[in-house]
Amino acid sequence: MAKCYYEILSVSRDADGGIIKKAYRKLAMKYHPDRNPGDNAAEECFKEAAEAYEVLSDEQKRQVYDRFGHDGLKNSGYSGPRNTGDIFSNINDIFGEMFGFGGGSRRHDPNAPSQGEDLRYDIEISFMEAVHGTEKEVDISKRETCWTCDGSGARPGHKPQTCPTCQGRGQVLRSQGFFQVSSTCPQCHGQGQVVAEPCTDCNGAGLKKKKKKVNLKIPAGVDTGSRMRLTGEGEGGRRGGPSGDLYVIIHVLEHEFFLRDGRTIFLPYPVPMVKAALGCEVDVPTVNGASKMKIPAGTQTGERFTLRSEGITGLRGGSKGDMIVEVQVQTPTGLSKKQKELLEEFDGHCEHEAEGFFSRLFRGHFSKEKISKEKNQ
Ligand SMILES: [Zn+2]
Ligand SMILES: [Zn+2]
Repeated sequence: MAKCYYEILSVSRDADGGIIKKAYRKLAMKYHPDRNPGDNAAEECFKEAAEAYEVLSDEQKRQVYDRFGHDGLKNSGYSGPRNTGDIFSNINDIFGEMFGFGGGSRRHDPNAPSQGEDLRYDIEISFMEAVHGTEKEVDISKRETCWTCDGSGARPGHKPQTCPTCQGRGQVLRSQGFFQVSSTCPQCHGQGQVVAEPCTDCNGAGLKKKKKKVNLKIPAGVDTGSRMRLTGEGEGGRRGGPSGDLYVIIHVLEHEFFLRDGRTIFLPYPVPMVKAALGCEVDVPTVNGASKMKIPAGTQTGERFTLRSEGITGLRGGSKGDMIVEVQVQTPTGLSKKQKELLEEFDGHCEHEAEGFFSRLFRGHFSKEKISKEKNQ
């Protein structure tokens, strides 16, 4: 017995057109043969859904079906979608934009000049190269237009012929069970033309593999992910078409000491405990050499000092970033006996900050009442 159309689409018997369309759209997406190549069960589901939709979306057919069921439809002359073309034209009408097949949008003239492919080249540069900018010569392996045949692939004096398999369309319809699927022509590989007398220089390909040296001028300020576009440095075009472009993607290696956030450079900077306590002047390394910086007496770990304009150049002419120096106070280790004595003597002269710290902490967090209560317990 034939399956109920409402069950196939999983909709109720009083579902309106919008719900039916939505349900069908979902199933068509799921079971579409382009997504399930060679899957006969999916193909069956796809066909079923198409039939159910065709009947339930048509007021007249739906009425007949509601009253007399499958037999009623058969008696009124309906026997399912007429052919695959119907199913696909149906789908294209509803949501042709979702699938890349069948529609006229993808068809282009394969004999027209075509632009070469864009190429991508990834390059690693050092932190300092990114800061100051650099020039690099790289070898790009690409296919360039064969100038002997101007990219046509035919021996000079001969013309490429229209491909007999696809009549120049570049695409052929291939049967896949119940369906016809459009695919690239196997004879001309989508070119729409075949070459009877191939160019001896490129063996009929129209393009020749070449290594080309390209000079990259990498500007100061680039960062990982920065992209440079070199117009016309991609693969060669065909039949007089322009070359594609070359996209260079920058990857910046990390620096041993400097960190970067946009145009700002961070430098964690170790300062010996005594110098931090007494204050001093230090030479801080920057990306431009060194810069004098004052560490005031009593500097703590985590305190930050800004060196104006010691950061990174803005890529599009923006102002220069700053460098932020973050002090890390170093506690001495491996003390000699003498050093220990001196520190202990020093300690004896200290007001103990720590005690003040605890009393402030308790005052902040507990009321006096609460503390005394706890003591009495
Ligand atoms: Zn062909
Ligand atoms: Zn050639």
